Amino acid sequence: MLRFLTAVQRVAKSRVGSNFNRLGVSEVFRPINTGNQLIENHPAYMTRNLHHDSSQKQLRLIEASPNFFSGSNLNRVSERRTDNVFLSEALTSSNSHFLLLSNGNPLAKPKPTKLHWLSYKEVEDIIRNPFIDKEKQEYPEGVTLIFLGIDKSQNGDTSSRWALDISPKGPIEDSFMPLRQKVMDEGYMFIPLRPKSFKLPLIEAAILAQARSMIDWNTRNRYCPACGRKTVLTDAGYKRTCLPSPLSQATDERPPCISPKGAHNFSYPRTDPVVIICTISQRGDKILLGRQKSWPAGMYSCVAGFIEPGESLEEAARREVREETGITLGPVIYHSSQPWPFPNSLMIGCIGRALSEKIQLEDMELDDARWFTRQEVLDGLQNPVEITTRATLDPHQLRLPPGTAIAHQIIRTWAKSEIMTTSKI
Ligand SMILES: [Zn+2]
Repeated sequence: MLRFLTAVQRVAKSRVGSNFNRLGVSEVFRPINTGNQLIENHPAYMTRNLHHDSSQKQLRLIEASPNFFSGSNLNRVSERRTDNVFLSEALTSSNSHFLLLSNGNPLAKPKPTKLHWLSYKEVEDIIRNPFIDKEKQEYPEGVTLIFLGIDKSQNGDTSSRWALDISPKGPIEDSFMPLRQKVMDEGYMFIPLRPKSFKLPLIEAAILAQARSMIDWNTRNRYCPACGRKTVLTDAGYKRTCLPSPLSQATDERPPCISPKGAHNFSYPRTDPVVIICTISQRGDKILLGRQKSWPAGMYSCVAGFIEPGESLEEAARREVREETGITLGPVIYHSSQPWPFPNSLMIGCIGRALSEKIQLEDMELDDARWFTRQEVLDGLQNPVEITTRATLDPHQLRLPPGTAIAHQIIRTWAKSEIMTTSKI
């Protein structure tokens, strides 16, 4: 978890346009990579030197480096999720790889922590081939199989990646047992997502985020939210369709389901947006952080909360900061985002400027909230909290979230940037 802190920190300084200029910020800093691995073909690198020179002003688009749980190397080829010929070939190929999950926890090698992938032959008895028929996908009852995407190895071979739920429940629970026993005997284990997934290499963590969120969504949507009937898996795991069987239709007095007609958001996987805000003081020399009672002693972080329906990102940021701290927030700019597969949130990191300074814990969601100086924050960045830490710690020493959390990255962006203290936003 702390690998982020020991890695080389590079900071890029650039002139930017559009949103930032609108807010009166002429320059901002963006971290380029704070991870333990470089993802060299990521847009954060590829766009560094792009610029548009019209009107003699440079416009350089600098993207923050991928946060933990993002930066997957898989091509999801979402346009092929209904192409059964393609899926069948990808599934049964000797280059297909399957990640098992049990109750949301992935199969992995414990030390060092690394995901363990199985071959088609090892899972064939359970999943068979849902794509044999060119027209429809038919999964064995109780099977949740997700097509994650394809990747290319260094020698150019294409392989496909899949996720398979073998939680000990459901109609075919017994058929999972031999496979579960086999992988256990081989020394692999289903590692607890928290905290073990934070030990995974970056790319594996990103693939796991996709796999885990998709399995979870399928598990929670076995019944149609529109009519209450059972749903069936389709689109390689990315859609659940309400298809009343002829038998149930004969005795079913409920009206036909609306979901097969038109687009409905309950048929497709959902992502729940959460705004997380680094609030800068009016003078730009302090930031506002809060703490929850359950956190380790001395730990403070950014204010965060779910975005509500009919609310913009900026409005949600202002509402959350006001509700939790009593502070009025002015301009809000976007920093970066982070998939958070617990079970399927998207953390949207923002930086905003306060219009007031007096703290008042309005909704009592926080145990405390305070303004911290740049030096306190710089010290805190060197002293992050392990998510599992419960030891007695000095409550007077600021501790910040670890580098795997987006809160750490947006706080770092402010702390390492001198321009934010003098900008006029
Ligand atoms: Zn329905």
